[in-house]
Amino acid sequence: MKVAIAGAGIAGGYLAALFETRGISADVYDGRDHAAHCTCRSCGWGAPKGISTYLHEVGLDLDDYLLEPMSPMQFDGLVATTPLCTVDKPRLVRDLSRSVRLTEQNLGQERAEDYDIVVDATGIVRAFLPPCRSDLTLPTLQHRVAVDCRGSERLGAGVYGNQIPGLGYLWIFPVGTNEYHVGIGGIGNIQHKNLLEQFYRDSAGQFSFARQCACHGAVRVASPYYSTPFFCRRRREDGAPQVIVGVGESIGTVAPFTGEGIMYSLECAKMLKDSWLDPEKYARSVLARFAWMKKERETLDYLLSPAGLNGPRLRDRWRFFCNARRSGIRLPMREAFRRMGSLTRWVEHEEI
Ligand SMILES: Cc1cc2nc3c(=O)[nH]c(=O)nc-3n(C[C@H](O)[C@H](O)[C@H](O)COP(=O)(O)OP(=O)(O)OC[C@H]3O[C@@H](n4cnc5c(N)ncnc54)[C@H](O)[C@@H]3O)c2cc1C
Repeated sequence: MKVAIAGAGIAGGYLAALFETRGISADVYDGRDHAAHCTCRSCGWGAPKGISTYLHEVGLDLDDYLLEPMSPMQFDGLVATTPLCTVDKPRLVRDLSRSVRLTEQNLGQERAEDYDIVVDATGIVRAFLPPCRSDLTLPTLQHRVAVDCRGSERLGAGVYGNQIPGLGYLWIFPVGTNEYHVGIGGIGNIQHKNLLEQFYRDSAGQFSFARQCACHGAVRVASPYYSTPFFCRRRREDGAPQVIVGVGESIGTVAPFTGEGIMYSLECAKMLKDSWLDPEKYARSVLARFAWMKKERETLDYLLSPAGLNGPRLRDRWRFFCNARRSGIRLPMREAFRRMGSLTRWVEHEEI
């Protein structure tokens, strides 16, 4: 049986590495034609330290990729302890596919005809699966900046929803040697570039920023439920059957509130390996495991609707609290409920 994995990002690279440990042979393709200097798809590189369990399974050690811990972290001015850190994602992605058969080219439709199974691990591109039943993507702009502190206080890690009109947030993730990823993700009438410049102006009293690089991107916040189908069966031109099955962000394994996809793409790849050759079982387990993402997506749909102008409902606040808990972020319940109120400011739809 001939298997191709299209995409050697986190999901495809990890799946290929898991296949290696199980003796499943696959051809891996990735043209890596990213605009970003780091040779990696646009990403903040933030992840919970819990990814170490996944890395161990393929013989990798989180310590080799750890850039900076992100505890404490600011959430709209509230400081919380978190299990988050930043990782050297380009290096991790390279190492995941180090011992696999990688062709540094994108897999095209014509070449894909050679394979009995094509794994669509192409992330936001979703090059092989049919379109999602109801897609939702969050446009982003991220800078890598070198930061000089004018005083003794260092720029801390943080996520801010209250700085963004429309639906979105700004993140500040330290990536070592006084460099940071500063980014904005937002849906609606949001001027990402102007908002980033405003952040630099607002912080100019304390810090100076020198931009190293910039990249536009988008993250699929549709949730797996709204990203079905996860697989399809088709006939190739010569009549032979072919299965296409998606993994990672191509099938929406990203937390809709926060855009975190690294941890969940690893988990999704492991689920595909565990249900290999049984796509129905795989689809059922992905839907069950990530059912909470469907609820977060429904909150986003509500906040983007005219009714959402009234601000988050009790159930939306509860989902926000659960989201923080799931990520190991220790926000007290009352504070989490109150902070979710800043979402009401996110939906003002005013242009900056
Ligand atoms: C600006 C931004 C910041 C983010 N920050 C974070 C963060 O801090 N923490 C976090 O957890 N998540 C973050 N995310 C989300 C996270 O990056 C993704 O969810 C995660 O990388 C998904 O992994 P993946 O392997 O499914 O897809 P990807 O990482 O996108 O990998 C897909 C790969 O497929 C390749 N490809 C595309 N087409 C083809 C083809 N035809 N043939 C072969 N290969 C192809 C691409 O080159 C790419 O390497 C962020 C996303 C964005 C846009």
